[in-house]
Amino acid sequence: MCNDHSTGLTRRGLLGAGALAASAALAGGFVRPAVAQSSEMKAAPNDIAPDEAMRRLMDGNARYVENLTQNRDMAAGREARAAAQYPFAGILSCADSRVAPELAFDQGPGELFVVRVAGNFVDTNGLASMEFGVAVLGIPFLMVLGHSSCGAISATIDVIENGTELPGHLPSLTDALKPGVEKALATKPADPLVAATEENVRYNVEKLKTATPIVAEAVSAGKLKIVGGVYDIATGKVELV
Ligand SMILES: [Zn+2]
Repeated sequence: MCNDHSTGLTRRGLLGAGALAASAALAGGFVRPAVAQSSEMKAAPNDIAPDEAMRRLMDGNARYVENLTQNRDMAAGREARAAAQYPFAGILSCADSRVAPELAFDQGPGELFVVRVAGNFVDTNGLASMEFGVAVLGIPFLMVLGHSSCGAISATIDVIENGTELPGHLPSLTDALKPGVEKALATKPADPLVAATEENVRYNVEKLKTATPIVAEAVSAGKLKIVGGVYDIATGKVELV
């Protein structure tokens, strides 16, 4: 068996035409989708430092909290977006209807690359989506976004503490959330739901950071920053954890 089996798959087979772009991006070259490359050679709008991307995101959340959002013209930029996309941040969010990343960070269409699943955890397809965002779209910043009053985290606590048996495919979801939740519960926290929500975010930030080859290499090269945040449904504020 070949040692770099997964690298070979990703670079030569998995992304097809995007594989070349992925490889070049990881090598530090200037890479954007072919459509954009043929029409312009200047730096892409999302070709910014990871810290600048985080500042842009958190400034947007501050506007949202103060009810001073700026992104109200949904028609603006439609023509440009038809040619290419340049999201500056990737968000791994819960599916909860009360958490809306574009609204919570005051961003318009094309700004955020959002993967959503109840409990905001990293699975293979979610990771592959983020790999595409990082390697092909050039996203410099990722956030794992948990939130207050998360039903998926509550259900996982219930399964662990009370042995509750859930119907359908729900056990698959709570199994995925157990590592972070169990770690939090082991500390006997005053508020298990808050502690488990934060620990689940930290667990999945670490899982993303160490996801080889694409995401981990981009982090090592300083091209990508990954942080965790928790959205407070009552205030709209995102706190970094
Ligand atoms: Zn949730």
